Amino acid sequence: MSTEGSESLLLTRSACPECGGRFIDGLTCQEMFEVLLAWEWQDPDLLGVHFFTVSSYLLQHHAPLTDTAVKGLRTAFARVLSGEVTIAQIRAQTARVYDGATRVRRPTNEIRPVPHIWPMTVADVYAVGQAGAAGRVRAWAQSIGAEDSQE
Ligand SMILES: [Zn+2]
Repeated sequence: MSTEGSESLLLTRSACPECGGRFIDGLTCQEMFEVLLAWEWQDPDLLGVHFFTVSSYLLQHHAPLTDTAVKGLRTAFARVLSGEVTIAQIRAQTARVYDGATRVRRPTNEIRPVPHIWPMTVADVYAVGQAGAAGRVRAWAQSIGAEDSQE
């Protein structure tokens, strides 16, 4: 296994090269994200904020997405966060992004994670366990909204 140059950053198992979040229990951000989705089956409150769970994760890990897809997601996220539209109204659009339709994903050889340090990551939602996860997802989304509006 090669660990030279920027490749070594991608192989680290302690923190995420894209969102800067720590890996907990040996799980990557993607794996912690999948745990959150699994919790939704037993947690109606968490299921109710599914839009924020998915879009927060994608906004902090958008390297695989095209610029157009990221822009669309940012706009949808900001509109829901501000209360301009409901989650139900925007659901169809984000479902397209998350389902990985060919147009929203970059070719694998064009994926270049750009590190960005966030005040809150999927690790902060996962770390404390399932209880209260929905509230932490809301805080996570708010923290991303605050960061994005500064740019
Ligand atoms: Zn990450």
